[in-house]
Amino acid sequence: MNAASTRAACHSLTTPLNRVRGVGPRLFEKLSRMGLSDVESALYHLPLRYEDRRQILKIGQIREQAVQVFSGTIIAAGESQTARQRKRLYEVVISDGTGKLSLKWFHYRKPLMQQRFIVGRHLIAVGEPRRFGVLREVHHPDIQFLQPGQSDADVLVADPLAYGCYLPVYALTEGLHQKTVRKIWRHLVTDYAPLVSSSLPEAICERQGLLPLTQALEQAHWPSADTPYKKLEAGTDQARRTLVFDEFFFLELGLALRRKGVTLEQGFAFTLAHRYTAPLARMLPFQLTTAQRRVLGEIKRDMLSPHPMNRLLQGDVGSGKTVVALMSALIAIENSTQVAVVAPTEILAEQHFLQFQPWLEKLGLTVVYLAGSTPQKNRKSILQGIASGSVDMVVGTHAVLQESVRFKQLGLGIIDEQHRFGVRQRAALRNKGRHPDLLVMTATPIPRSLALTAYGDLALSVIDELPPGRTPVQTRMLGEEDRQKAYRQIKAELAEGRQGYIVYPLVEETEKNDLLAASEGYDYLRRQIFSQFSLGLLHGRLKADEKARLMREFKAGHIHLLVSTTVVEVGIDVPNASVMMIEHAERFGLAQLHQLRGRVGRGATTSYCLLMRSERCSDEGRKRLEVMVAHTDGFRIAEADLAIRGPGEVLGTRQSGLPDFRVANLLRDGRILEQARQEAFQLVDNPDFAHGKAYAEVRRELTKRWGGRLELASLG
Ligand code: ADP
Ligand code: MG
Repeated sequence: MNAASTRAACHSLTTPLNRVRGVGPRLFEKLSRMGLSDVESALYHLPLRYEDRRQILKIGQIREQAVQVFSGTIIAAGESQTARQRKRLYEVVISDGTGKLSLKWFHYRKPLMQQRFIVGRHLIAVGEPRRFGVLREVHHPDIQFLQPGQSDADVLVADPLAYGCYLPVYALTEGLHQKTVRKIWRHLVTDYAPLVSSSLPEAICERQGLLPLTQALEQAHWPSADTPYKKLEAGTDQARRTLVFDEFFFLELGLALRRKGVTLEQGFAFTLAHRYTAPLARMLPFQLTTAQRRVLGEIKRDMLSPHPMNRLLQGDVGSGKTVVALMSALIAIENSTQVAVVAPTEILAEQHFLQFQPWLEKLGLTVVYLAGSTPQKNRKSILQGIASGSVDMVVGTHAVLQESVRFKQLGLGIIDEQHRFGVRQRAALRNKGRHPDLLVMTATPIPRSLALTAYGDLALSVIDELPPGRTPVQTRMLGEEDRQKAYRQIKAELAEGRQGYIVYPLVEETEKNDLLAASEGYDYLRRQIFSQFSLGLLHGRLKADEKARLMREFKAGHIHLLVSTTVVEVGIDVPNASVMMIEHAERFGLAQLHQLRGRVGRGATTSYCLLMRSERCSDEGRKRLEVMVAHTDGFRIAEADLAIRGPGEVLGTRQSGLPDFRVANLLRDGRILEQARQEAFQLVDNPDFAHGKAYAEVRRELTKRWGGRLELASLG
């Protein structure tokens, strides 16, 4: 046994990093600050990127935007100034016969430079070339001078940690140097990567072309020289692919088991009686879109099957989810069961109630509203109605999930998730009946990769088409200096007989301030700007019937301009509204802005969305607003949101149960996720999986990674 393997043999993946070669107390402290404490976490701390130092390139072959190695002879050197800012710089021009390259320093000590860079001397430089006009230059390159008699090739072999290979570039923290980290990680990978064992079934590795885990880790830190640079750059090399697949696979395996656990249960097998759905179809003033029909077909198939439905319905704002939900509800009601519709806030729940109620009443059905604010005296009769079965549908908030709410026979639960509910709420609703069907709706589309992860145990239906006759909303970002122009534009719309919204953000400190901003704005606008029009003020503190009255008046066109806090975010549907101005727009999240903007652009004329940016808008805020200006497609916006904020933030990691990935990147690795998911779901369907000896290792690994989060008796 050599020294390295002896050391590894008496250590394990849980060995603390301060017991690793080269890591002293101060370094250990720094690494801990980066969240690296044991060997395993360090092994999975992969390079951010790689420098291609495999060979010395001819200057004529240089690509821009990547660190490379080149050599040449100094043909000129000296101090000069930048053209624009007249900053001092030191420039050295080298040539290798195929071209010239300019090396530049902006921080330097002149005597030292003069002493080192002498015309005729031969050197090797490492850096990232950029093109400025016809000339290519490298700023602050790493330099190595050749000794007399030494050739380029001698240098390549002489220092394996610097040349002749790919060099990893790691994320660092203050006071930590790339060279140090490289050296330590080199030892670490050699000593400890062999301890990592693969638990992926061999057949899957073969099908997916994966490496053994040990080799994948070694390669991910120090890619072999025959790996194409393009693959490393794109993160599609075999090593990284293996690690990402491994990570996704065990996640999806857990989700697949959860899903299977649900689908094996006995649920309602509904039939299509058409008693209410057919009359509704006749009453609707429009034809369903192809996407709505497809999705409804998927839902029907689930509802008719003897196992509980567990489905996520995604669709952009205004794509027409309500009518799909309504049709599904009627199927359940036709089969003498009840429906519960649950939303995360009172405003949302109320909006749903207002949307469902007229249709159900026309069909002679009974629908009730239940929320925290429901007065005690009404509550009793509502609860009785639900328990006796005289209520066909209850729409409400968390209040519906309370112990005291008992259904006679709950057939379908509809959750408007808005990313604010989690697995637990879904389970609570499910427990209100004997394995009822479950339909989860999200109004904010999220990228498919994220949906598969966050809602991985649900089947996915997507309404990917808007009803006909919409014209895309024109969005502009405006500053304070454009305010009067914005008011003029709103006036022009109102003068043409159309309507509009002015929205104020939620002020974080107190709800009072929030109201204050909107009501002060309202007074000013009513008196000073829009005096010839009729304005309304809508905010969260109004009583429900007051809100409903305002909404009715706005819908009827008696109110021209609605000034509001964010309550208009959801559900309001006034096709005649053609302009929306959003104050302090940068304070809103992208998803919320998208929701808000969805309130206009519902009619046939062009609509406008004016995003007012504050003076103190951050760069990130501005970036968000630019996304809104550039895109109207909710999926594109969601992807941009994911890129700016990351998955944890977008979904709220805690509620969603979404893990932090060590290696995977949801934006980039969507395809690998789909493949891992397919393999995992297939494996769970294999009758040997739950108990077979061949899969003991996989099951152990699954339990380890999911910890206590898999409540599954079926795993032996
Ligand atoms: P969301 O998916 O945002 O909940 P809604 O269900 O509120 O969307 O629908 C938005 C608007 O589009 C409503 O006015 C609704 O009546 C209308 N709508 C829905 N489906 C269609 C359709 N197939 N054709 C025309 N209009 C439709
Ligand atoms: Mg809706």
